[in-house]
Amino acid sequence: MQDQNTPVIEVRDLHKAYGSLEVLKGVSLAAPRGHTIALIGSSGSGKSTLLRCCNLLEDSQQGDIIFMGEKVRWKGEGPNRHPADRDQLVRIRTNLCMVFQQFNLWSHMTILQNVMEAPITVQKRDRAEVEQAARRYLEKVGIGDKADAYPAQLSGGQQQRAAIARALCMEPMAILFDEPTSALDPELQQEVVRVIKALAEEHRTMIIVTHGMRLAADVADHVIFLHQGRIEEEGPPDQVFGNPQTERLRQFLSASG
Ligand code: ADP
Ligand code: MG
Repeated sequence: MQDQNTPVIEVRDLHKAYGSLEVLKGVSLAAPRGHTIALIGSSGSGKSTLLRCCNLLEDSQQGDIIFMGEKVRWKGEGPNRHPADRDQLVRIRTNLCMVFQQFNLWSHMTILQNVMEAPITVQKRDRAEVEQAARRYLEKVGIGDKADAYPAQLSGGQQQRAAIARALCMEPMAILFDEPTSALDPELQQEVVRVIKALAEEHRTMIIVTHGMRLAADVADHVIFLHQGRIEEEGPPDQVFGNPQTERLRQFLSASG
């Protein structure tokens, strides 16, 4: 079932609707271990929905989701389809950590407590071990000195780096980024981009939704252009950015500057 080439996460012919609004119309992708995928496309094309379906934050109505070679088991069909196996769901959630545009740190907890929270409460890991790991990851993202500060005392760029440390501390199989730099002023974006580039260089498995074409070109092994809930075009960054095949992608890229 599983070998070196088994993708960490794969979706096949995924369909997702909100009521009568079809948002994903048969999307397939695979995130091989150690690779970075960039998801690009206009606002409303379904990028966030696709990411959230991958780690089962959203239900989908049709198609397969496969984590480490293991198909998600469902109960019910279509609009009534939900994950059937709670242990499997938790395994997938804790192994595909999300980093959101708005950081989503707990405002009443220190940065260190934010990073330690899920490993202790969800993963039931040993507190001393988790604290050591948390401090190591805060150092790694360059905010080791902010462990005892509260989120409101940090800049946006520092908060986002704390959110990345929080994801890393789960020791996930992959990290899913949803527009990690979009809420930041341009000068703060770079500090987050540097961290993401360093993770790509260590061959972490990542899927990154981004409006930053520079970031996508720099870190991605594979770029997927989503248009109205379908993959319109995909390929290596050189090809997607340097030699787009479809008029829609050409238009999107020229509008993205
Ligand atoms: P993107 O991230 O590419 O901007 P989204 O995945 O957020 O796109 O949204 C795709 C479509 O789904 C949009 O038309 C959006 O309005 C709709 N949508 C997203 N979330 C919901 C929701 N919870 N309920 C209803 N419609 C939603
Ligand atoms: Mg989005």
